[in-house]
Amino acid sequence: NGFVQLGLAPELVQAVADLGYTQPTAVQDKAIPLAMGAGAEDGRFIDLMVSSQTGSGKTAAFLLPVLHTLLRQQAEAEAAQRAEYERAALEAAARGEAAPKRPKRKNPMQARNFKAAVPGALVLCPTRELAQQVAHDAIDLVKHCKGLRIANVVGGMPYQMQIAKLQNANLVVATPGRLLDLQRSQQIKLDQVQFLVVDEADRMLDLGFSDDLAEINELTAQRKQTMMFSATFAPRIQQLAMRVMHDGGASVK
Ligand code: AMP
Repeated sequence: NGFVQLGLAPELVQAVADLGYTQPTAVQDKAIPLAMGAGAEDGRFIDLMVSSQTGSGKTAAFLLPVLHTLLRQQAEAEAAQRAEYERAALEAAARGEAAPKRPKRKNPMQARNFKAAVPGALVLCPTRELAQQVAHDAIDLVKHCKGLRIANVVGGMPYQMQIAKLQNANLVVATPGRLLDLQRSQQIKLDQVQFLVVDEADRMLDLGFSDDLAEINELTAQRKQTMMFSATFAPRIQQLAMRVMHDGGASVK
C-alpha cells in the first residue's frame, strides 16, 4: 500500500486500505509528508496553503497527518502513564506495600459531570453538508485508532445531541457559526487546539465567514499548525493566509 511510504501510523494505513485506497492522490502525496514534516522530529510543524479541488482527495490530505500526530501524542501520554505506574509499583514493593491501583480508563459516556470539550484539532468547513462529510471521513479513518474521537458541530442540529457527543472529542469538524455559539456558552474550549484546518477557504469567504474566521484565529492563537485548503489562490485568499498563517504558509499546488 502506497500510504506506508508516507510514514503514517499502521492504524491509519489499515483504515485507508479498508476504504480501498491503494495509492495516495497527488495532493495527499505532497501535503501529508509536509504536514507531518518536522513535527515528527521535534514538534515543529509548518503551515500549509493547499490548492485543491473537490474530488482530489483533499479531505484525507489534511485528516491523515492531523490524526497521525494526535495518535502519536496519545500513545506517548499512555506510555508515560504506564511508566509512572511501574515506578510507583516498584517503590511500593520496596517499602513492602501492596501495588497501587492501576488508573482506570475514563469512559466519557459515563461522565457524571459535564466538562467542556477541549479538542486538540479543529477542522472548519463552510457548509453543514461538507462538515458532515468530513466528519464521516474522519470516523472512517479512526476506526482502528482506540480512543480517538470525532465530533461534528453544525448549525441546524439540536444542541443537546451535539454537546453530548462533544465530550472527549479529539478532533472537531465544525461550521464557524455554531462553533462560536458553543464556545461562547462554554461547551467547548479552543485553547488546546494544536491543529487548525480551514477547508474550502474560498467558499468560506463567499459565505461571509470572514469575521468568524478572525475570531477563531484569535481563540486558537496557541496552535502549532494551520492548513488552508482552497480551490483558488485569489488575492483575498492570500490575504486571509497572511492573517492566519506563519509567513503566509508554504504553498502546495
Ligand atoms: P475529496 O477530494 O476529499 O472530497 O475526496 C474525493 C473522493 O476520493 C472521496 O470519495 C474519497 O473517499 C476518495 N479518495 C480519497 N483519497 C483516495 C485515494 N488515495 N484513493 C482512492 N480514493 C480516494
